Amino acid sequence: MPADSVRFTLLHRTCKLVVLLCLLHLSVTVVFYVRSLDLRAPVVQNQQPHINQTVTPKHDQDRDQDRDRDQDRDQDQDHDHVETLETLKKLEKCPETSPLLVGPLRVEFNMPVTLDQIKRINPDLGPGGRFRPRSCVALQKVAVIIPFRKRDEHLKYWLFYLHPILQRQQLDYGVYVINQDGDVVFNRAKLLNVGYMEALREYDYDCFIFSDVDLIPMDDRNTYRCFSQPRHLSVSMDKFGFRLPYNQYFGGVSSMSKEQYLKINGFPNNYWGWGGEDDDIYNRLASKGMSISRPDGEVGKCRMIRHERDRQNEPNPQRFDRIAHTRDTMYKDGINSLSYKVVKIEKFDLFTKVTVDVGKP
Ligand code: BGC
Repeated sequence: MPADSVRFTLLHRTCKLVVLLCLLHLSVTVVFYVRSLDLRAPVVQNQQPHINQTVTPKHDQDRDQDRDRDQDRDQDQDHDHVETLETLKKLEKCPETSPLLVGPLRVEFNMPVTLDQIKRINPDLGPGGRFRPRSCVALQKVAVIIPFRKRDEHLKYWLFYLHPILQRQQLDYGVYVINQDGDVVFNRAKLLNVGYMEALREYDYDCFIFSDVDLIPMDDRNTYRCFSQPRHLSVSMDKFGFRLPYNQYFGGVSSMSKEQYLKINGFPNNYWGWGGEDDDIYNRLASKGMSISRPDGEVGKCRMIRHERDRQNEPNPQRFDRIAHTRDTMYKDGINSLSYKVVKIEKFDLFTKVTVDVGKP
């Protein structure tokens, strides 16, 4: 074979080999590229929730982040989608002190408020007056129990002021208005016992706030939650010149954990009419060696809505005698002897109303 022909064949083979190698390289590149496309889609989806996640120091940024997140949520009509993103996100516990608190508040009762207006300014409430923060896991599950009869005007003010406060306090809460059916004499403490029972049927609450319908805190740092000792929250009421009427006073607004409440067998059921039941509760706590926790006089300021004495809630003449015997009666009379009939449960937008027949004296 002539030398030229040999050279040509060699060159031809080399070129073929180079072309083959190029093709191989190209196909390997294509395969890897296609595989990388397949993988990329789910990664992008999973990253989505992290976009909102905290990357900056917590305390300074909390309030802004909460607002941003709340705004994002408002714009998103697809609730389920938000839920999915939220559950993908690993939520942190809410801080011990909410960064949303503003401190002293102006509380007045001279402007008209309507339930619709209250609903509009509290768009994040669930049916029955339920709420839980979306940006963190609340430290406590709080049932707010309000003994009630024919005080709709007062209830409106209570809802108007308290819903925004409780939300700023970052609580997982529900509002239960326990409405005494009929016209027999009022029984505040028994209604509170009913509230405890009925709230627990609905959710695993670990803290209970017992609040009169006409008492509004004047400072949102007075957190409606439970403490290591039973808490008295309405410590400086305008009605008493912004001070305690007496050291053992436990009326108005108080809070107790489930354990604290059960330790004293709940509240007495046999205080019909005005007065004494709160003193009985104090006696129960004292006899169990518990002390009363209180906010300071400034943070604990609150206003009472002025009103005439309710009909069928005259001062109870037996109260002094009953208070003198709490230690003998508390184990027989309480949550262990409670009996009542639920007449109706209504889930309104701003609260759950439980109408109940508590019997008569
Ligand atoms: C009553 C309490 C009441 C307090 C303040 C006491 O004499 O027994 O029930 O809360 O006065 O008004």
